[in-house]
Amino acid sequence: MDEIKTAGTTNNEAVDDVIVIGAGVSGLVTAFRLAEKGCRVRVLEAAPRAGGVIASGRIDGMLWESGPNSGMDTTPLINDLLDALGIREQRADARKIADRRFIVRGGQLIPLPMSGPAFFSTPLFSTGTKLGLLREPFIARSSPEIDESVAAFVRRRLGTEFLDYAIQPFVSGIFAGDPEQLSVQAAFPKLFALEQRYGGMIRGMIFGARERKRQREKSKNNAKSFSFNNGMQTLTDTLAHSIVAANGIIETGIRITSIANNVEGRWEVRGGEGKIYRAHSVVLSTPADAAATLLASLKAPWADDAAQALRDIPYAPLSIVISGWRREAVTHPLDGFGFLVPSRENAHILGALFSSSMFEHRADEKHAVLTTMIGGMLQPELPKRDDNALQEMVERDLTSLVGIREKPLWTKISRHQRAIPQYTFGHLKRVHRVDAVRSHAPGLFFCANWRGGISLGDCIKNGHLTADEVGAFVTSHRTP
Ligand SMILES: Cc1cc2nc3c(=O)[nH]c(=O)nc-3n(C[C@H](O)[C@H](O)[C@H](O)COP(=O)(O)OP(=O)(O)OC[C@H]3O[C@@H](n4cnc5c(N)ncnc54)[C@H](O)[C@@H]3O)c2cc1C
Repeated sequence: MDEIKTAGTTNNEAVDDVIVIGAGVSGLVTAFRLAEKGCRVRVLEAAPRAGGVIASGRIDGMLWESGPNSGMDTTPLINDLLDALGIREQRADARKIADRRFIVRGGQLIPLPMSGPAFFSTPLFSTGTKLGLLREPFIARSSPEIDESVAAFVRRRLGTEFLDYAIQPFVSGIFAGDPEQLSVQAAFPKLFALEQRYGGMIRGMIFGARERKRQREKSKNNAKSFSFNNGMQTLTDTLAHSIVAANGIIETGIRITSIANNVEGRWEVRGGEGKIYRAHSVVLSTPADAAATLLASLKAPWADDAAQALRDIPYAPLSIVISGWRREAVTHPLDGFGFLVPSRENAHILGALFSSSMFEHRADEKHAVLTTMIGGMLQPELPKRDDNALQEMVERDLTSLVGIREKPLWTKISRHQRAIPQYTFGHLKRVHRVDAVRSHAPGLFFCANWRGGISLGDCIKNGHLTADEVGAFVTSHRTP
């Protein structure tokens, strides 16, 4: 994306309505919705470009994504946003074939069963596990007071094999996380709610469907995967341009180092090279460690506790190896979304997306793009290996799993030292400690993927909700 900068902003006396720190999708959606409400918004971003972890491009006509490859259309707020941005026609829905997801067992890619009959005939699970599913509706719910791990929850309701060959790889596909450490209540609140409200997952899926229909929401199982014809960056680029078109300002290459609330209740935000910005309200849309630094700069005991809570949120490291192939070089039909590798399977990679099979326009029929993930909480050392080592790892695993017969035409490696925040035990209490600062610091808000969900859909929803809250605050505090 072109850099969007405004001149003459150093130590300006102008007071914005809102300063959003961080131009990932969370900050951009918040800022766009605020600009739409008529607020004077300024977005300050440390990186040279807006978009955060979202970045797309093409090599030899083949599309790569170094962050999210797709979103799930779980809330009507997504299409509402695309309509407001005028990019609904550029939205690409995943091909039907992408409903098929593979899990590796015994070195083979086995389709994850998506229906009752498929579940009872799949070689992925033993007969004991299949029959265990019939018991699930009769297993008692746990106490809501217990912060149970995802692993304990699944073991209790569905058994160890289901954990190992469905949920563990699924958790690594979403959080790059360890199900023994993730809190089911914080990481999968809808799953937790199914048990609490309906007494089990199967009952919840049946009865919860009616409620979701009423609320126009979809479960992640039924939601469509979407992207854009030219990749996910269409969304963040258009958000950035639309903020500017609505008289908002985006400054990139500005790392914010401190925030302060002055006596008149205005916020002062300081960036590199002595830049100072003023606003009635500040939204922190940065990762948790950066938000911790900014809270600590307030130099107050209540802010220190919140800063510590933020520092305690672990992040999974990931390296993403994207590779372009001659289609003939890959033996597997690539007829699906991709595959995930359970940790029991002894591979180096967490899984791979069949990126060019998921959506049209990502590669022509003579080529294929594969996106391979390495690392996560269970193998945190692997992503640090040098480029050659990562490439070798990927080629070795892809050779045995999808039958690679040649070297790739090109490879692009994207490293995320702190890729995904982990909603581990105590996460909701940590978020509560962070929220407690708001009673001391009116006008300070938070919107980033360390709270309220990590998926794109969740970030969009949270940006929308935060903009409503901030907009109401600004309206009641704006000086005429
Ligand atoms: C590799 C990867 C693959 C993913 N795949 C999927 C997927 O397929 N589907 C899905 O739904 N989700 C996926 N996710 C998750 C989803 O993409 C993220 O949760 C979401 O994009 C995060 O957006 P954000 O705005 O909260 O944070 P970020 O994108 O991290 O943005 C935060 C911004 O704050 C800026 N910043 C930090 N410190 C400062 C400072 N001091 N001053 C100014 N700016 C600062 C950063 O530079 C950054 O631009 C993936 C994530 C990763 C990393």
